[in-house]
Amino acid sequence: MKKLFGVIGDPIAHSMSPVMHNDAFAQLDIDGAYHPFHVKADDLAAAVHGMKAIGVEGFNVTIPHKAAIIPLLDHVDPLARAIGAVNTVVRENGSWTGYNTDGAGFVRGLQEAYGGPLEEKRVLVIGAGGAARAIYYTLASEKVSRIDIANRTLEKAASLAESCPYPITGAVLTTEEAEKQLGEYDIIIQTTSIGMSPLIEECPVSMENVKQGAFVSDIIYNPLETKLLNEAKKRGARIQSGLKMFVYQGALAFEKWTGTAPDIHRMEEIVLQQLGGKYVNN
Ligand code: NAP
Repeated sequence: MKKLFGVIGDPIAHSMSPVMHNDAFAQLDIDGAYHPFHVKADDLAAAVHGMKAIGVEGFNVTIPHKAAIIPLLDHVDPLARAIGAVNTVVRENGSWTGYNTDGAGFVRGLQEAYGGPLEEKRVLVIGAGGAARAIYYTLASEKVSRIDIANRTLEKAASLAESCPYPITGAVLTTEEAEKQLGEYDIIIQTTSIGMSPLIEECPVSMENVKQGAFVSDIIYNPLETKLLNEAKKRGARIQSGLKMFVYQGALAFEKWTGTAPDIHRMEEIVLQQLGGKYVNN
């Protein structure tokens, strides 16, 4: 019988996950199907129980359900619980287990492009929302020893850093402070929604002081080169868009569901074809 998968969110119409996963099923000759499901917040519990009842094997979770789904699951992976967000649910022995592959997906893409150990690097995270939390905690779980964090709302950055369950040091900075000392960082990770289409002329932090050869990663992938990345590139930084994070979070979910690693390069091509300048959020 065909194995069923999907993604739940609100909105969901522009999700690129279905085309990416369905292509991977076809490539690997797996009899699976992945559907987008538009689920409103009030219907979340019914949707989660209903999917178990009809035999869905696993699903992704996107805005606005990543935190709200946690109490509805049977088990939650410790890192996902610490992050406070689940983006991947897997049926394990008839129960729902929640994972977070966003942080691991980002770190996989960073490791691939950076090409060296991250542990002793000076790292700055810009932003303190859900994606920042996933990235910060996953980097800390991977033994990165110092991460500074800057955000418009300082209290949110302080609370994110204080709640980190892994050993880590680092300063909490205003965006102005981060701009001044930008030249100290080897790796800068932009996680706010600033710069995303249609507001492509906006930039959360000026890249004026970025050091030559620094690695600047923006988790936005629409556009692929944000204003922040463009400014960093002009000053000699190496840059990376959010496409790798998106593709790797999907690939890691796929692997959890099927036990098989999909072709990451093909997944990336499929998403690139789909992008075409449209607004997307998962
Ligand atoms: P979120 O939880 O809503 O956090 C938003 C962040 O952006 C906060 O730090 C917020 O600062 C900041 N922000 C929002 N408006 C701002 C403004 N006008 N000026 C300055 N800062 C502002 O969102 P999220 O889930 O973390 O997602 C953030 C971005 O990452 C989105 O663009 C999303 O599409 C992208 N994303 C990409 C991937 C991927 O796979 N590549 C995965 C997840 C998310 P305050 O705390 O001050 O409000």
